Amino acid sequence: MEDRDGLIWLDGEMVEWREAKTHVLTHTLHYGMGVFEGVRAYKTDQGTAIFRLEDHTRRLHNSAKILGMKLPYTESHLNEVQRQVVRENHLESAYIRPMAFYGSEGMGLRADNLKVHVMVAAWHWGAYLGAENIEKGIRIRTSSYSRHHVNVTMCKAKANGAYMNSMLALREATAAGYDEAMLLDTQGFVAEGSGENIFIVRDGVLYTPDLTAALDGITRRTIIALANQFGIPVVEKRITRDEVYIADEAFFTGTAAEVTPIREVDDRPIGSGVRGPITERLQSTYFDLVEGRYPPLADNWIDYVEAR
Ligand code: PMP
Repeated sequence: MEDRDGLIWLDGEMVEWREAKTHVLTHTLHYGMGVFEGVRAYKTDQGTAIFRLEDHTRRLHNSAKILGMKLPYTESHLNEVQRQVVRENHLESAYIRPMAFYGSEGMGLRADNLKVHVMVAAWHWGAYLGAENIEKGIRIRTSSYSRHHVNVTMCKAKANGAYMNSMLALREATAAGYDEAMLLDTQGFVAEGSGENIFIVRDGVLYTPDLTAALDGITRRTIIALANQFGIPVVEKRITRDEVYIADEAFFTGTAAEVTPIREVDDRPIGSGVRGPITERLQSTYFDLVEGRYPPLADNWIDYVEAR
């Protein structure tokens, strides 16, 4: 990743990609106390546009607030920075990664003189779970790792350290030959994937776990809005793993994962083992929306990187 041409915004300045470095005593590197976002920009007919930029930046600020970290830039400043990074790297479509982390002014958990640094990078990143899986769907398995408990690490924050749990689960799943993990909460109910929210469809109704142990995903919110547009009932509730087994359809959502069908859970085919019709409709409208072709919702959620 580090050996590329391009520019990364770091603490108020655009720096050469290869020069965007930090010290080994960076506090966040040691203890994981930092916050980040994953945002996508898409090519639209009217230029490159960031999808739900304001919502992502607001979540970044809220994550920092939950951790008690003071971000030195306003939301509107960081919105403009993200547009600028996409623009100045001449990206037609992009994955954007803002992150706030503590500096190396002190070590130990008690360090209280730490500077908050903020960086924003962007690069081209295709389908996170594989291009062919957008149609074919993925095979997942229930993780032996539980998702965070609300009072262990708070689940509303997209915090760096929380992703150790995600990586343990993902590595376990991929080592066993699956594409992704399905994590249960500490009570045993379905929470989410390692970096995705989960939905199931049964008898025409869309179900998704409530947000107790899952991240408040922006793609999740988008799918709920699309389902509302289509008149598909949506129920947020506790879901058991066997409810997923007998679902007609299942899919993951995430900025990186977009809308990825799940075709098998714990070696049981979901429905007929192929992408289901409701998944396909929501997925194709999601791509229309992010690429600016779904005016009812695009008008509010599409943020062009070039001034218009
Ligand atoms: N859950 C987790 C744990 C995630 O990391 C992500 C990705 N940010 C999601 C869900 C999906 O969130 P979003 O749709 O906002 O990308």
